[in-house]
Amino acid sequence: MTTLLWICALLVVIAAGAYLRFSLLTTTIAAAVICAAASYFHVGSPLPFAIFVILALPFNIKSFRRQFISKPFLNIYKSIMPEMSSTEKEAIEAGTTWWEADLFSGAPSWKKLHNIPVARLTNEEQAFLDGPVEEVCGMLNEHQVSHELADLPQEVWQYLKDNGFFAMIIKKKFGGLEYSAYAQSRVLQKLAGVSSELASTVGVPNSLGPGELLQHYGTPEQQDHYLPRLAKGLEVPCFALTSPEAGSDAGSIPDFGVVCKGQWQGEEVLGMKLTWNKRYITLAPVATVLGLAFKLRDPEYLLGEQEELGITCALIPTDVEGVIIGRRHFPLNCMFQNGPTQGDEVFVPIDFIIGGKEMAGQGWRMLVECLSVGRGITLPSNAAGGIKTAAVATGAYARIRRQFKLPIGKLEGIEEPMARIGGNAYLMDGVNSLTTTGIDLGEKPSVISAIVKYHLTDRMQKCVIDAMDIHGGKGICLGPNNYLGRGYQAAPIAITVEGANILTRSMIIYGQGAIRCHPYVLPEMEAAFNPNPKESLRKFDNAVFGHIGFAISNFARSFWLGLTGARFSNAPYSDKTKKYYQQMNRFSANLALLSDLAMGTLGGELKRKERVSARLGDLLSQMYLVSGVLKRYNDEGRLTEDLPLVQWACEDALHKLQTSLDELLDNFPMGLGPILRFIIFPFGRPVTKPSDVLDHKVAKIMQTPCASRDRLAKGQYLTPTQYNIAGIQEQTFIDLIACEPIHKRICEVAGERIPFMWLDKVAEKGIELDCINTEEVELMKRAELGRLKSINVDDFDPEELTAMVKSANQANYAA
Ligand SMILES: Cc1cc2nc3c(=O)[nH]c(=O)nc-3n(C[C@H](O)[C@H](O)[C@H](O)COP(=O)(O)OP(=O)(O)OC[C@H]3O[C@@H](n4cnc5c(N)ncnc54)[C@H](O)[C@@H]3O)c2cc1C
Repeated sequence: MTTLLWICALLVVIAAGAYLRFSLLTTTIAAAVICAAASYFHVGSPLPFAIFVILALPFNIKSFRRQFISKPFLNIYKSIMPEMSSTEKEAIEAGTTWWEADLFSGAPSWKKLHNIPVARLTNEEQAFLDGPVEEVCGMLNEHQVSHELADLPQEVWQYLKDNGFFAMIIKKKFGGLEYSAYAQSRVLQKLAGVSSELASTVGVPNSLGPGELLQHYGTPEQQDHYLPRLAKGLEVPCFALTSPEAGSDAGSIPDFGVVCKGQWQGEEVLGMKLTWNKRYITLAPVATVLGLAFKLRDPEYLLGEQEELGITCALIPTDVEGVIIGRRHFPLNCMFQNGPTQGDEVFVPIDFIIGGKEMAGQGWRMLVECLSVGRGITLPSNAAGGIKTAAVATGAYARIRRQFKLPIGKLEGIEEPMARIGGNAYLMDGVNSLTTTGIDLGEKPSVISAIVKYHLTDRMQKCVIDAMDIHGGKGICLGPNNYLGRGYQAAPIAITVEGANILTRSMIIYGQGAIRCHPYVLPEMEAAFNPNPKESLRKFDNAVFGHIGFAISNFARSFWLGLTGARFSNAPYSDKTKKYYQQMNRFSANLALLSDLAMGTLGGELKRKERVSARLGDLLSQMYLVSGVLKRYNDEGRLTEDLPLVQWACEDALHKLQTSLDELLDNFPMGLGPILRFIIFPFGRPVTKPSDVLDHKVAKIMQTPCASRDRLAKGQYLTPTQYNIAGIQEQTFIDLIACEPIHKRICEVAGERIPFMWLDKVAEKGIELDCINTEEVELMKRAELGRLKSINVDDFDPEELTAMVKSANQANYAA
């Protein structure tokens, strides 16, 4: 029995060393002390100590370890690990890792998260939001754009150009606004709350496209020529990568260029003959400059010794002879400009390549590098902005619209989808701020940008469906009075572009995340393929033994945190958010452990096991989303009245994480699931979904004028201008709430239950009964007008609806 106790003591010391991540040497010394004590006090012979020393020494003497353990292992590793293709290498090396690497570490540092600076706007950026952004939001009549013009009105185009909306990323020295990523995100959020067409039109030139590529890679001549013109709106850019044959698999584009000599403006110059057929290109129909991705070949070796140069990006003015452009696609009734473009052997000079001929073949790297940033700003901001406005508009509508003699928002069934919208609006805004802060700190977060692209657009789409369901017929009947239907129609676009969502979840998030965020996988790969054998072995040994220690630590942490429900683990606050930090400690250790096991059991096959990869990615992603929520709560001063929103968002994300983890364990390779389940969930699944009580609290915030509700919609355009129905409804919401006690008083004096409708008539009754004043009469009349506007939908003369279709069909037949 005592022997067993000594063995237990030894295991506890080793496990504690692993849990606390002591170095190998420290843990060895601590274990040696136990063995020495057992030898002395228990066995009375040095045998246990000697056995331990014999076993432990080879691992602690580095030269021995390298030669006899790491070297054979390195040889096996090299023989089974395929060398990465250059495209894979470029994708993996693009960008940087940031907070997500902490989440992958098995022991995130909460101090580090909360020390990230709070996102702030400069005075100039704030003035832009309060001035031109506010103004253009008021100019836009979405029904006119979508149904009558099939385009933004000319005055809106001009206003956007004149006020630098297309130049938010362009540096000041070129005449641009040079705004922070955070400011860009706030602008796009506000625009998206009004119109997805407006947000897309502004978002695209500020995202991955000619402006971004020129700033990073353009030659000085290209920058001096194009950037000031783009900043002034004299050029409208688009970027064409997608072909009919290559969508998600963009690296396989068949579009090509051949280096050759040809005539350009009357002279013979070195150039390329380009052939392309692209589709789905945003702004292409109105673009003056076409960013084009194609594969460049140099069969006559005019540029150097390489024939196949690879993907290359060039800027082609759209008035060059042979450029076919101008036709439009019809993307789900959303009238932002989008269409195909073609060219057949179009000759252009070689210096049309972005960055000049030196950058021939560097296009893929350029694109993935820029995507690391742009993907983290545009679509996630549009998604967050759309849902922030939808949250307050749905809250207001649910308070205004009555059925069964109650505001529908008070019905329990409605509270569930309401809470999803409110909780997500809080989450998405927090995640948006965290991500753009990272970008402003100089990060190029390729993994995070994939996470936020997927999860914010996915949550946006689900929330829009919830909002539509709550609005019933009001959301369905399109027209000037509908502020939701067009956003609902546009949602799948955000899902599909900049990396379609299923692909992003299945391949990109974890595919890049595992290699980039894991502290040892990339160093192992780099060390293994290091051409210097001595350095290769030294680095490989360090990485592999670091990796083994890491894996043991995550095993110990997963087991202990599971056993104790993570109750004793590190959390920076001991309030109601404490458990979320602690659950994240636990899930972080689980992610690190399962990653190593998945990579160990599947090796290169993991790439094809997309559902394993997707679920591991979910663990990382949901932890990132919770980080955004906790950071926001902290940055805003830990306002307890916002706690229901914080709790809802954390519990929802952690529950989703747990579901993915559960499914992963059910499907874990090599049948390891049951053993892992015992380690990870010894007492079952710890996280529950947001409760009905919590849903109720969130739904209440959304339907009650209060500071938490204001923060939910912070920065959104809710001014009650002519076309801004959500803004007008917001005013009605305030008015109707002010009418409630007046209505109650009239009912009491009249001694009857008067329905809460026809408030103008109710006011007249109040005058008859002499129980309300003139101001109250005015309020009730105004509220009734607003109420009717909110619940009514549009109807049309049939001609108004068929006009567009007819003219479009006529144009098609004519063609
Ligand atoms: C409105 C709109 C605007 C756009 N703007 C531009 C633009 O300005 N410039 C530009 O170059 N392109 C643009 N695109 C193209 C866009 O980037 C592509 O649509 C996108 O890459 C997906 O390609 P696809 O539509 O051909 O779908 P496909 O590639 O055919 O994918 C179909 C489905 O298969 C899934 N899938 C694909 N591969 C995998 C995988 N390995 N694992 C799991 N699932 C997978 C996808 O997620 C998707 O669900 C735009 C598209 C639209 C619709």
